[in-house]
Amino acid sequence: MRFSCIHTHTIFCDGADDVETFCRAAYEKGFVSLGFSAHAPIFKKTGIHSTWHLAEDRLGEYIDTVRAAQKRWAGKLPVYLGLEVDYIHGLTGPADKEYRELGLDYIIGAVHYAIAPNGEPCSVDDPPENVDRSIQELFGGDALAMVESFWDCQEAMIRAGGFDVLAHPDVIKKNNSIPGGIENRLFSEDAESYQQRTAAVAAALGAAAIPIEINTGGMNRGKTRECYPSLPFLKRLREQGVQAVINADAHCAKHLGGHYAEARQALLAAGYTEALLFQGRRDGQAQWQSERL
Ligand SMILES: [Zn+2]
Ligand SMILES: [Zn+2]
Repeated sequence: MRFSCIHTHTIFCDGADDVETFCRAAYEKGFVSLGFSAHAPIFKKTGIHSTWHLAEDRLGEYIDTVRAAQKRWAGKLPVYLGLEVDYIHGLTGPADKEYRELGLDYIIGAVHYAIAPNGEPCSVDDPPENVDRSIQELFGGDALAMVESFWDCQEAMIRAGGFDVLAHPDVIKKNNSIPGGIENRLFSEDAESYQQRTAAVAAALGAAAIPIEINTGGMNRGKTRECYPSLPFLKRLREQGVQAVINADAHCAKHLGGHYAEARQALLAAGYTEALLFQGRRDGQAQWQSERL
């Protein structure tokens, strides 16, 4: 099958390679297209100091750089301009109108922050020691409260819309098992409450006709043994008619296509027969093509 990746991070945010290096690697791997999805700036709207988001004052340079690459690679590799936009409840989200005004080809909607009972956002995607500290300090030691907030935020983002594909649908599991270490440190994916939450998200995505990505980024960086989302969640998504895009969430060019064989296997195991390839934006709508697995 033909492959692409529209979830990539360059040196503009927390990636290791520049735009041109990614383009060359995607071309050499025979990808049919490539999309850039820097973490959209958040500081102005949230006051959160982060090391992994694009700086506010470099957004224009990012857009110009990707658009220039798009021209340079025309006829060889379709290049798309996107952003991975955080949903941080009450502060920022993909539905906010400033993202419409950027003329992007696509937006990946992502929840990386749960909201603590005191209203403070807290990253669920940080190294385990930071997440553990947040659970102690912000959630009174109640890991499940953080998990519930993550799902609340995910559902609220889906209701608000404004994005073309849902990022890493169960990134909350990133710190739940440490490869080679403790399993299910924070919660059990088999718990009924967890299954109810993933079922509700699958139903909401199906009703909104929003595709998800099957994301190999956790595997590429040695954080998880399987893709996002886990197989039971992926099965629910398929039952709800939610389509899937295979993405590496690549933070360096060599991760493009990483663990795609496992992603394809997971889709087949969940009953999918096709994945989606992004085809650009027309009349304000993301265009997708189905690719047989
Ligand atoms: Zn992300
Ligand atoms: Zn990402």
